[in-house]
Amino acid sequence: GMQLLRRVRRRVVHVDELLDLLQAQPQPLAAQGQLQPRAVAMRIDAVAAAARRVLHELSAPILVNGLKLTVGASIGIAMCPEDGRDAADLLQRGDAAMLRAKEDRGAYKFFDSSIDEELKSKAALETELRAAIPNGDIVPYFQPVVRLDTGELSGFEVLARWPHQEHGMIPPASFIPVAEDAGLVDAMFWALLAQACRKALDAPGDFSLAVNISPSQVRDQWFPEKVLRTLRESGFPAHRLEVEVTESAMIGDIQRAKSSLMSLKNQGVRVALDDFGTGYSSLFLLRALPIDKLKIDRSFVATLTAERENATIVRALVGLGNALGLHVTAEGVEDNETADALRVMGCEFAQGYLFGPAVESPVYVQGQLRASA
Ligand code: C2E
Ligand code: CA
Ligand code: CA
Repeated sequence: GMQLLRRVRRRVVHVDELLDLLQAQPQPLAAQGQLQPRAVAMRIDAVAAAARRVLHELSAPILVNGLKLTVGASIGIAMCPEDGRDAADLLQRGDAAMLRAKEDRGAYKFFDSSIDEELKSKAALETELRAAIPNGDIVPYFQPVVRLDTGELSGFEVLARWPHQEHGMIPPASFIPVAEDAGLVDAMFWALLAQACRKALDAPGDFSLAVNISPSQVRDQWFPEKVLRTLRESGFPAHRLEVEVTESAMIGDIQRAKSSLMSLKNQGVRVALDDFGTGYSSLFLLRALPIDKLKIDRSFVATLTAERENATIVRALVGLGNALGLHVTAEGVEDNETADALRVMGCEFAQGYLFGPAVESPVYVQGQLRASA
């Protein structure tokens, strides 16, 4: 690792000389405070050329102990004075451009007005979110999970929703990443869990609740204790709770994830591996971690009946889960044909629009399911 870094640094130092050269170029002349268009264009060309050089230099394989390794980079560019005049502004904008560049891997990207718009709306959303969470504006919705063999309700997945006065219902995909970046996802989670437990206790039946947890929460050593405290305070029994984690949340510090999940499990909380099949799908994780359930991602399930390959993958994943003694839920079941196919494969649970979308109250859904059974 160190050797590789050292070699990369040497290349970057080499590139530094190139940047010095760039700086040594005469500054474009400002005419009445405005940059001359031609001078600007020349400067942009020179910067772009430098960026291409950097990427090129870095992309050549590096030989370390006989191993051929490749590294890459993404470059974001902010220009002074067009994109800002002080270092903080320029760094922030360069950073935003870099994130854009990362989407294409190994690319460079100039800051532009579309990135600016995105930054502004993200900042606005963050400000609103900061107030919305303590206000209780983020609410739990409940999506039914059913047993495939009997069609009976097994429980609900709790999904965050933000009913917004101006923008209507904001889906979690729009605000959870913002909450994560702003360090707000934990506060949001506790408010949601408490609300969800209360609503579940108001509904008849001893169905289970599944909650989604973020990567940062898997790494928080106090997380299990805080879960138990919330359960105690609300009176919701631990054996009715399930936490859903993604594989990527556990990569990096498997030991810590393991001890966190173990303490939850020791208290009776179950653990489900979410979006199974899309991440690393490391079979090692299945053995290393105390997992009770696999949730097969809807990208495989949705096209199960149309694409033979996906049917094969789903059958293999269901078989794997069953063989390891794990429960299996298929997500994103939208039609009867898919439900039938899953039942034949031996899949235990299913969730999807066929059985119902996430709704405000678990009581309502129970009535609905009974009606359609
Ligand atoms: P997920 O955990 O994979 O949740 C399932 C998503 O699939 C939900 O979207 C659900 O509405 C949607 N879905 C369910 N059935 C169907 C179907 O039949 N067809 C299709 N096309 N979609 C279906 P939603 O509610 O927009 O949630 C998106 C993601 O946001 C979730 O994916 C989860 O990763 C995250 N999320 C939601 N609530 C929370 C939360 O409270 N905390 C955290 N950390 N993440 C959350
Ligand atoms: Ca989930
Ligand atoms: Ca999922």
